[in-house]
Amino acid sequence: MPSILWRIPVNKVVIAARACLTRQKAVALGFQVDKAAHKKAMEENAGVVDAAAKKMELLALHGEAVAELVEQSIDTTNDSFKYDPKPMEVSVVAIWCGRRKGFFEYIDKSFYVECEQSPDAENPKNHIGLVFDKTPFYAEQGGQIFDIGCVRNSSSSFTMDVEAVKVYGGYVVHYGTPKGLLKLNESLNVEIDMKRRALVMNNHTSTHLCNFSLRSTLGDHVEQQGSDVFAHRFRFDFSHGKPLTVDELEEMDERVRKIILQDLPVYDKEVPLDEAKQICGVRQMFGEAYPDPVRVVSVGVSVDDLLANPTSEEWKNYAIEFCGGTHTPSSNAPITFTTINEEAKSKGVRRIVCLTGQEALDALQASKDYKTRMEAALEGKTRSALSTTVADLLKELDSLKNFPYCDKSRFRQALADAKKTATAQMKEQEKEFKKIAADFAKETGAQLKESDQKFLVARLDIGSNCGVLKNTIKSMQKQKMIPICLLSFCDGKVSVSASSTKAALGTLPANKWVSTTVSSVNGKGGGKPDAAQGVCTNVNEENVQAMMDAANEFASQNI
Ligand SMILES: [Zn+2]
Repeated sequence: MPSILWRIPVNKVVIAARACLTRQKAVALGFQVDKAAHKKAMEENAGVVDAAAKKMELLALHGEAVAELVEQSIDTTNDSFKYDPKPMEVSVVAIWCGRRKGFFEYIDKSFYVECEQSPDAENPKNHIGLVFDKTPFYAEQGGQIFDIGCVRNSSSSFTMDVEAVKVYGGYVVHYGTPKGLLKLNESLNVEIDMKRRALVMNNHTSTHLCNFSLRSTLGDHVEQQGSDVFAHRFRFDFSHGKPLTVDELEEMDERVRKIILQDLPVYDKEVPLDEAKQICGVRQMFGEAYPDPVRVVSVGVSVDDLLANPTSEEWKNYAIEFCGGTHTPSSNAPITFTTINEEAKSKGVRRIVCLTGQEALDALQASKDYKTRMEAALEGKTRSALSTTVADLLKELDSLKNFPYCDKSRFRQALADAKKTATAQMKEQEKEFKKIAADFAKETGAQLKESDQKFLVARLDIGSNCGVLKNTIKSMQKQKMIPICLLSFCDGKVSVSASSTKAALGTLPANKWVSTTVSSVNGKGGGKPDAAQGVCTNVNEENVQAMMDAANEFASQNI
């Protein structure tokens, strides 16, 4: 995550906090899997981010407020602890209550009275921002989401869940709803939510792997154009003029997964900018104003090794970036990886959305499960049954979120191919049916001509095309003008077509003939006395015979 990390809107005051970057590596964090808690966390996280964004908007530390802190000689926050975030004791150096209310010296009873609440109650009007002398919290910047956590005094008579953290001109503001009483310069114990931090680090480190892997697959023109790193997914934007093919994306995904499996150490070190820029293959943006020294983050090769021979072409084989974000200590912390979406972000810029950890495992498993279901469902199906199954499978595939993008594309293609096969089979069958119908009309018509039959009820299984049945009847009536009713049984469905004659319109109207025939198996029919059609679904051979009998009986009684 290079570039944008350094584009933090610094107010008019000059801030030195950025120089406090630590050299310590991120602590090793265990990754625990708890599906129910995990789902809950996802929902909560979405809410937290939205609510926090609103609060931050209302409580943004604007330029004048920052200037006020500077005038009071309050040092900017020492946030160097963010790379090794342990619980720590801090001192409250500012209590910010928003543009209207300004800075407070106390959170006392009158604060809650003004908010029409008791000190114990939650109230959206109560949101405040606390600035400490130092902090282990990572403030939202460079596309990486802020840490959340809690602060409390030693007696726990004051507590606040930290729901959002943002930095303004070097002052890190911790937002939340206070409970209890607090005064300026009071000591507080602060602690970040390490489980969530671990998820964010998994995703952040994976942005580096994507950045590297995309360039390896697509070419040197690929530059990062931004990223949004959350606990449960991340977005990565990069320059590339056209959509990635499934093969390209698959290769990119596979390379990232391979680096994860390699369990490479992730190194970081602050390096004088001039020296850092000499490193071959380092990701940096043209025209970007990087701090000096700059933090170099490298996966698989130590920064000292890079600096010992900075121009070696060998370094092009590693993910090396200038970055101030938080990273996992090794490449295998994310467990696995998958891309779930690829789209245009703007002209010449593509955006991928990716998962790591349990989300990625779930997505890859969902894909395996779907493949098994799809193959079983398609097995042995042909023609219309195949076509219907394909439609059902496509509907299901569309509804599956958090699904590996490449797999979805491949399954879609497989289903499109199956649909083509079904359509071709149905066309071929229709041709055969037409031929059968023509032969039937010719032979039966000739027999009728020789007989003194008053009507005809016959079965002609040629699919569910009532038009073909109708034409067949017409063809026979040309040879002998008598009322005719044809039934076609196919794939559990019976289609009925009947045509009367001028002479029999009054006694054997086609519409009544059809409705009587189909009603024996709860079918539906419609038409006029001269010609009518009907359909029955979910029927068996027995039902077909019952319909034939009903049609014969009705005609015999009414002709
Ligand atoms: Zn980074």
